[in-house]
Amino acid sequence: MKDDNFLKENNARHMWHPMAHPADSLANPPKIITSGKGVRIVDVDGSETIDAVGGLWNVNLGYSCAPVKEAIAAQLEHLPYYSTFRGTSNDAVIELSFMLREFFEPDGLSRAFFTSGGSDGIEIALRLARQFHKVRGEAGRTKYLSLKKGYHGTHTGGASVNGNANFRTQYEPLMPGCFHIPAPYTYRNPFNETDPEKLAQMCLAALEDEIAFQGAGTIAAFIMEPVLGAGGVIPPHKSFMPGVREICDRNGILLIADEVITAYGRTGSWSGSRHWGVKPDFSVTAKAITNGYFPFGAVMIADHIAETFEQDETGKANIASGYTYSGHPVGAAAAIACIKETQRLKVNENAAARGREMMAGLEALKKKHGIVGDVRGGEGLMNALELVSDRETKKPLDAARTKTVFDTTHANGVMVRVSGPNLILSPPLVLTAEDVKDILSALDAGLAAA
Ligand code: PLP
Repeated sequence: MKDDNFLKENNARHMWHPMAHPADSLANPPKIITSGKGVRIVDVDGSETIDAVGGLWNVNLGYSCAPVKEAIAAQLEHLPYYSTFRGTSNDAVIELSFMLREFFEPDGLSRAFFTSGGSDGIEIALRLARQFHKVRGEAGRTKYLSLKKGYHGTHTGGASVNGNANFRTQYEPLMPGCFHIPAPYTYRNPFNETDPEKLAQMCLAALEDEIAFQGAGTIAAFIMEPVLGAGGVIPPHKSFMPGVREICDRNGILLIADEVITAYGRTGSWSGSRHWGVKPDFSVTAKAITNGYFPFGAVMIADHIAETFEQDETGKANIASGYTYSGHPVGAAAAIACIKETQRLKVNENAAARGREMMAGLEALKKKHGIVGDVRGGEGLMNALELVSDRETKKPLDAARTKTVFDTTHANGVMVRVSGPNLILSPPLVLTAEDVKDILSALDAGLAAA
């Protein structure tokens, strides 16, 4: 390993960082993280902080999860790679697919298609949704509907269904045939509606309206996150996702749950769909499936979709999609160990309990600090604080003051994520009540400084 001076001198000089302007990365060098222990990370200067970002919503079990590390090492020794393209498989992926069938049985999902991460999984679900309709003889169903504020990764299909302009503009024109409806975001919405239940009904009505406008027979799928994450942690009212399911069913439209963040316990339930009592047609999972230790994902497929594909005799169900690393044995071994540990520790229950404490603390911070316009969460351990310079006009806090909040929070021992005017919290699900207090007190200091 190179020494600290080498790391600092070469930081951001020979690489481009995702979601960053290359000039900004040179002007404000990224923090160099050199080790992690439990829920804490340490940077090159030795400064130790609680990682309230949880890696990138994925290190649910923290940085010291020995069973996952050991499983990776053992699998590397035993079989470091073999493909799952037609004709071959590997032992780890067979065991994992059996395990996932059990894990997702309550969601009605019985088959897995493996990927290298979330964006890959979104493309697979979008493709398989169109293919399902083709297999059934409804080839005209090609369009996709999604939510404004939704985030579905950065491949072209995912970017096309993304509902945030900043992930789209530089890459337009994107895929045609993608349409967006308003998100159930109470703080800002075109209806000026603050009641979550009424807003959910308005957004559902907008969905119905768009379906009628496009023609139901032209739409392949609706894709949504059970709780919107990167768009600023927007939990919909509990009537929303069941309402979407009902509308999709009535119109022959498939429902893709983007569970890249919400699967494996983050919402307090084992999946975001289960949290709302909904059975999706596809569920895209990634991130926490390996605790972030190996790039991996699983798209889970509903029983009825699986039957349609498996009973096809026309050849149309041939899956002409997949990645070199689909079903990577090391990723599969990591996932097996990770899911076992996730269940053993019942991290969903801890997420629910710590999430309640976090939400109560954030509400108190909102009362105390005028720059907090809105706090969101309440469904497990995912929260956002939306910062404003004026509560009346809801003018977003400027970047310089937001940076002061971030820097001061960090100096007080907590790493959070800044996304526009939002501070996003997605800590490991093994957080303790003491860690929650530490996060809240660092945020208190950060907010006071701006
Ligand atoms: N979908 C959601 C909801 C996400 O939050 C993300 C990543 O944050 C993705 C998809 C893309 O996943 P990945 O970054 O693993 O490609």
